[in-house]
Amino acid sequence: MAQRIAEDLWRLDIPLAGSPLKNLNSYLLTGGTRSLLIDTGFRLPECLAAMERELAETGVCRERMDVFLTHLHSDHAGLAPQLLRGDGQIYISGRDAEGLAACQTDAYWRRMYASYAENGFPEEELAELWDTNSAKTAGPSDWDGACVRLADGDVLRRGGSELRCVLTPGHTPGHMCLYDAARRRLFSGDHILFHITPNICRWTTMPDALGSYLESLDRVRELPVELLLPAHRSETGVLRERVDELKAHHARRLDATLRAVTEHPGLTACAVAGLTPWRIRSRSWAEFPPMQRFFAVGETLAHLDYLALRGRVRSERAGGKIVYLPTENGN
Ligand SMILES: [Zn+2]
Repeated sequence: MAQRIAEDLWRLDIPLAGSPLKNLNSYLLTGGTRSLLIDTGFRLPECLAAMERELAETGVCRERMDVFLTHLHSDHAGLAPQLLRGDGQIYISGRDAEGLAACQTDAYWRRMYASYAENGFPEEELAELWDTNSAKTAGPSDWDGACVRLADGDVLRRGGSELRCVLTPGHTPGHMCLYDAARRRLFSGDHILFHITPNICRWTTMPDALGSYLESLDRVRELPVELLLPAHRSETGVLRERVDELKAHHARRLDATLRAVTEHPGLTACAVAGLTPWRIRSRSWAEFPPMQRFFAVGETLAHLDYLALRGRVRSERAGGKIVYLPTENGN
């Protein structure tokens, strides 16, 4: 059910069946000449049904509603084209607009899966993911890619709000938060989440994903915020405290990754992932569902890239795979 958070602001609760994220918080800013819907849900019938029902509950005029996407992931972008009416537009950062176009092609996914295979991901699980990976199957379709590309510092005036675009690369190369200084609100997308930590994985278009993410945490840490509006789960909290917790989380994971490489030199990223702790209900690494294992290996690659770029681990090819080794600077 649509929840009215403030006079001009609604939270729409879109279920993400089968995803550990559980739900998407879509936000709707009303008032003024045009409304703004922030993030949309997977291109799946159950997400569309919830979105249509909740939009109707708000009474928003669909002809005067635009859509802003915090980033390109399908649970945020999937429904965007089919929600537009009249001259409604999609707004997204220029970087993620490019990424969104790239990931509509099979070639993109073939390249990514080949790189996961090289990093030790089981080939049979990759084959299974080809048709079931919602990142690939539930993104926007029947869309010519038309959108308004935003840059850091751009200002969007929608509802009664003046929203400053804050580019926060890390979760995706062009992730963007919206900041309303007058109302002290931050729409944080997947940059800041509570209860769960945003997935940071390797991107060919962002060589130091974790380093970028940590810098992007600093880009928002000092913003005066009274209402922090994350894209998943119902929990929210204090921005600075959460930024510090997220940094501490990645420091611990970097330590665990480095320890695994030091104690077991010559392992693939997939094997390293199996040696580091994860907060998931499966009892063991072997029981991880393939999709979760895919995210975990992506996350491990981002941590290994961070360590390699800083000279603390190195990689080499062995038997058709990429393996990781400690360096003298490692500890
Ligand atoms: Zn995301």
